[in-house]
Amino acid sequence: MATDVISAPKSEVLEEIRDSQQTTCCIVGGGPGGMMLALLLARRGVPVTLLEAHKDFDREFRGDTIHPSVLEILDEIGLAEPLHHLRHVKIYGPTLRAANTSFRPIDFRRLKTRFPYIMLIPQTKFLEFLAGEASKYPEFRLKMVANVESLIEENSSVRGVRYLGTDGWHEVRALLTVAADGRFSKIRNLVGFEPIKTSPPMDILWFRLPHLPEDPQEDSGRVMGGFGGGRILAVFDRFDYWQVGYVFPKGTHQQVRTAGLEALRNSIVAIEPRFAHHVASLTDWHQFSLLSVESSRCPRWYKPGLLLIGDAAHVMSPVGGVGINYAIQDAVVAANLLASSLKAGRLEVSDLAKVQREREWPTRIIQAIQSFVQKRLIASVLRSQTSMTIPRFVRVLFRIPVLRDIPARLIAFGIRPAHVSE
Ligand SMILES: Cc1cc2nc3c(=O)[nH]c(=O)nc-3n(C[C@H](O)[C@H](O)[C@H](O)COP(=O)(O)OP(=O)(O)OC[C@H]3O[C@@H](n4cnc5c(N)ncnc54)[C@H](O)[C@@H]3O)c2cc1C
Repeated sequence: MATDVISAPKSEVLEEIRDSQQTTCCIVGGGPGGMMLALLLARRGVPVTLLEAHKDFDREFRGDTIHPSVLEILDEIGLAEPLHHLRHVKIYGPTLRAANTSFRPIDFRRLKTRFPYIMLIPQTKFLEFLAGEASKYPEFRLKMVANVESLIEENSSVRGVRYLGTDGWHEVRALLTVAADGRFSKIRNLVGFEPIKTSPPMDILWFRLPHLPEDPQEDSGRVMGGFGGGRILAVFDRFDYWQVGYVFPKGTHQQVRTAGLEALRNSIVAIEPRFAHHVASLTDWHQFSLLSVESSRCPRWYKPGLLLIGDAAHVMSPVGGVGINYAIQDAVVAANLLASSLKAGRLEVSDLAKVQREREWPTRIIQAIQSFVQKRLIASVLRSQTSMTIPRFVRVLFRIPVLRDIPARLIAFGIRPAHVSE
């Protein structure tokens, strides 16, 4: 049997593999997609090894939103209630602030679901929660500080991975390897899958502002959006501080920096006057991290022995904050379609193709809607240098329940929400 290691780094070729473990499914990446798939497979009795490069789940901000569709999925496996015991905030609809008004364009309370809200919970806590639940199953194995560097291939099928741990190189051999390793997916690069990219018209600077005693305590102030002067501000309450996204036209980061911190502070306060005192804490550019916004999808999500899910298969634009939702729904569909055969020790390429077929079109539809919103709304907000108002007819439109419910449904459930089959 021909065994190839794809793109093994030189050091690995020279260094010894310390051990080789066998499992049924090896998942690379402990983000929302990989963690949920590991949990669902272990729950169905499939031996699964999850490899995560970081030492813990606490890292840079990547969104804290748990949408109604994900809460329904968790409810189906008995985990919605325990999740609600963790410290969280319920968002019934973001508040949108413009020069002439502040209003709530979306009201999730009108949705027919047990969970008519977006739950805001630090992603670290959410992942720790899922890992804790998964570890109740003997089939689940989690390896942190496991940086996957190469794939093992035999006869053109992926048969596992090699990773660098704290003590050297290890090997995990598996019937199925899942790339859930996010937007910069190493595995996707190794197999040469080239994503089709579209370039949304904006970039985002993320930073924190402190909580001050005068800050609102009620839910309505917990997620806010505002715009004006060619900028958009997205604000999330993270209990002890505000997580803020400052949105500006793509490619103009250097101009924002050149204008200086004082100009940035003024621009923030112009959109959100309540932050007049908070912005004094912004004194150094190191406090900001730049997110180059992108949106992409792979034409192919699989090859023999390998499946891509979540951001590795499709990076979602931040519009609507659906990335976590879509990664988790990929995981649910993959578990539904693959668990039985994996448990029986079988894997057909046609089953991997089914996962892509079922998940690709909902992804493409949402990406098309995001692209429309970016081109028609966000781009024109970012082009306008004056303070903008929300036209009266738009506010009236959003008072019509049926029209108001469409964006709420799309954000809450996406297209064709997945459900756990067993
Ligand atoms: C700044 C920012 C804000 C966001 N806000 C939101 C939001 O509010 N709501 C929302 O729904 N989405 C949001 N998103 C998008 C969301 O974070 C992603 O869509 C979602 O996390 C994708 O989940 P995933 O499991 O596919 O990948 P990821 O969450 O990216 O997880 C991938 C994991 O793989 C690990 N990994 C990578 N390479 C390797 C390797 N070689 N070996 C081992 N492990 C590896 C990484 O450490 C990581 O833990 C945001 C993204 C960013 C960047």
